[in-house]
Amino acid sequence: MPPLPSLSPLNLETALRAASARIGRLDARLLLEFVSGKTHAALITQAGEFLAPEQQARFLALVERRAAGEPLAYLTGEAGFYGLAFTVTPAVLIPRPETELLVESALAISDALPPSAEILDLGTGSGILAVTLAKCLPDARVTAVDASAGAIEVARRNSERHGVNVRFHQGHWYAPLDAARFDLIVSNPPYVAAGDPHLERGGLPFEPRSALTDGGDGLACLREIIAGAPRHLHPGGMLFLEHGYDQAEAVRALLLQEGFREVRSQRDLNAIERVSGACWK
Ligand code: GLN
Repeated sequence: MPPLPSLSPLNLETALRAASARIGRLDARLLLEFVSGKTHAALITQAGEFLAPEQQARFLALVERRAAGEPLAYLTGEAGFYGLAFTVTPAVLIPRPETELLVESALAISDALPPSAEILDLGTGSGILAVTLAKCLPDARVTAVDASAGAIEVARRNSERHGVNVRFHQGHWYAPLDAARFDLIVSNPPYVAAGDPHLERGGLPFEPRSALTDGGDGLACLREIIAGAPRHLHPGGMLFLEHGYDQAEAVRALLLQEGFREVRSQRDLNAIERVSGACWK
């Protein structure tokens, strides 16, 4: 499919049709809604309305970027997670639906947490876990850590956007936390092994490499987080980790080896063991 003509003025309908042929109807529509500021319904009822020249130029440029593989979320700067809208930039991983399982696992045990539970999100990225948990558990005190200053900036914006109070620290896993202890630790760390062909597929080449892969066997960050957890959990505290489709057994073994109990894994909507959790003593 050749690039779209940029000279003749396009109305909403012709713009949508031309873009759909290049990037598919759904993404074309979402980009057109984004650029025109119109709802899906308005695109239909006002189909004959022309785009302003700068809107048209912007739309066509975004369609080309999408056609080149850039994820939609980076083009619009928005992604949904657990029913909430989050700001995303290329400094952070785009939220994945399977990560909602981590939220569900945490919420499922939240009755057992103390009233003002101390919650820690390691490698917060866009802040989806920290912000969603803070939103769902308004009495909890949520702390979030990320090694990337760019990520912290995005996560902070998301916490402000959702009106929740999260304490942010930049640093390597537990390093910025001194001796602080928590009732619940959650993490979706980089767990894709270096050289995994998935890293070159789909939108992944556009995402921060350091959020996807540990540069090693895929278990390096999970190992480090599990090894450090006993020094940062209260007795009876819980740890929940997202991991790769083939890592559940290894993660359970690491948790058992470290002395955790009630070690178990949960399956995501694709029936893949995706989250493992355990209780500290
Ligand atoms: N689930 C992500 C993917 O494969 C990886 C996320 C991560 O490493 N934490 O696209």
